[in-house]
Amino acid sequence: MLSSSCWPWRGRVLRGSRIGVLEDGDGDVLQAHRLALEIHLDRPLLPGMEAVHYCGNRSCCNAAHMVETDPAAPPPLPAVRRTQRRVTPVQAEEIRAARAAGETYASIARRYPISRSGARKIVVRTPAPEPPLTP
Ligand SMILES: [Zn+2]
Repeated sequence: MLSSSCWPWRGRVLRGSRIGVLEDGDGDVLQAHRLALEIHLDRPLLPGMEAVHYCGNRSCCNAAHMVETDPAAPPPLPAVRRTQRRVTPVQAEEIRAARAAGETYASIARRYPISRSGARKIVVRTPAPEPPLTP
C-alpha cells in the first residue's frame, strides 16, 4: 500500500508518454522521475538500471513510489499478489477457518503478517493459481 500520494510532474512531458522531462544546463534531456529518485538515493542510478514506478503513474515524481530496477529482470509482482504471498496456503486455510468460526478480521490480522483488509481478501477471494515466476 502506498503511504503517500503521487506527485505529478507539472513541466514538459515526453511526447507520446506521460514521462516528465527537463533539460540540464548542457541541453541534455533528463527524465524528471529518474532525477527525483537519484536525489532521494543521493547517487546516480547504477549502470543499466531504470527508475520504475510501482504506482503506475508515469508522470509521478514521488521517489517513494519508485524502485531502482533492472529492466532485463522480471517485473515486480503487483501489490495484491505480494499481500497474498505473505501467508502460506496452510495459513490461508487457518485464516478462512478462523473467520468461519466467527473471529474478526482485526483479530486475525494480529496473528499473521497481514493487514485487516489483507485477511479479508484471503477469506473473500478464491485463491488464483500461482503465476509462473518468469514472464
Ligand atoms: Zn506515484
